[in-house]
Amino acid sequence: MDISGKRMYSLLEKLDFERLSTFEGETKGAEIIADEIRALGGEPVIETFKAPRYEIKKVKLEVIAPFYKEYEVTGFGFAGNAAADGLEADFVYLEALEPMDLERAKGKIALVAGGLRVDSFKIMIEAGILGFIATNGTFRETKETMDLEEKMLRPMHIEHGTLPGVSIRMTDALEMVAMKPERVRLTLAQDEGEADSRNVIAEIRGTERPDEVIAFTAHYDTVVFSHGMFDNASGTATILELYRHFLANPPKRTLRFIWCGSEERGLLGSKAYVQMHESELEKIRLCVNVDMTGPLFGRDEARVIGEEAVCHALTFHYKEVGHAMNVKQDLYSSDGIPFSDKGIPSINFMRLSAPGTAQIHCRYDTIALVTAESMERTARFIAGFCERVVNAAYFPIERKVPDNMVEKLNKYLRKTK
Ligand SMILES: [Zn+2]
Repeated sequence: MDISGKRMYSLLEKLDFERLSTFEGETKGAEIIADEIRALGGEPVIETFKAPRYEIKKVKLEVIAPFYKEYEVTGFGFAGNAAADGLEADFVYLEALEPMDLERAKGKIALVAGGLRVDSFKIMIEAGILGFIATNGTFRETKETMDLEEKMLRPMHIEHGTLPGVSIRMTDALEMVAMKPERVRLTLAQDEGEADSRNVIAEIRGTERPDEVIAFTAHYDTVVFSHGMFDNASGTATILELYRHFLANPPKRTLRFIWCGSEERGLLGSKAYVQMHESELEKIRLCVNVDMTGPLFGRDEARVIGEEAVCHALTFHYKEVGHAMNVKQDLYSSDGIPFSDKGIPSINFMRLSAPGTAQIHCRYDTIALVTAESMERTARFIAGFCERVVNAAYFPIERKVPDNMVEKLNKYLRKTK
């Protein structure tokens, strides 16, 4: 089987830059993928869709009493402009969201340790808090070792309202609270709107059953500060290698390859795809999504949003070919989800890195942690399994998402609690 880790690695080298949703890097990433498809004789289609985009113009956090100190912070996207000229208020460290804590937090700017969960955010809005400071990272990280990631309020936050907010390094937050600030000033100004993001699509028409379609997906966008070599230039290169393989070995069924944009903004590329292609979805029998391969130390995994029978088939195959992996029926937060939400089973392939090695969503997601050999090994397994599925005499996977998975999907997509 002509699957080459070296070729995959050379695509990573071409994609070795930040590819943030709606920004120049993402557009450039889409063009590079389209060029690769053209070089193989294919005809890529680039579909654009709108994704939220914000740009922070001004952000500042100052303690103004009983001492003065300015802390380095990043603004929350879509957290409004209410504090463009500086919002002054008393400071409170909100340890818990108990009524007694909330009562004394009213009308103040609150520091909360950890991330900003949607339910906590809703409680903070109801409690009449004026602004928030959320922590980022751990006590170990310093300015030298950690970028202060810009976070954003997601639509599920915003449905409860907005509050101006900033992220602060945990090290600074610890210092600040220890110094007992009384009054703070929070400044945040930003442009909020939307801009184009892109899916890149290429198809190989089936020789015998062209109306039965298997979708292959992988996202190529990254978060800010990350070159996303592990997450997910590796998956991008994997499905490109599958595309190459099946061009040379024409499949019985139609294969549609979709390189998704804006996954990191909430699976927006795959959501846009299923929305724009609603009428064609009934032909899609299966979605194969690849999100992260390549670390030298790690373990191959598959998460199946489909019948248990698919897990058994995968387990049989990995034993047959001697490729140890962990297979589970479960959700995986990636581009398979919008397909499975439409009743299409999805198999999500990934290689989880061993603790202490490859990291994602930060500056350390570099090409140094990914190897050609490891990517090739995983790609070979996926290609081998998929070859059997796409060329089967009778399609072996039922187009069905079982009730237990539907329940999980509905919770994940916040259709139910
Ligand atoms: Zn990813």
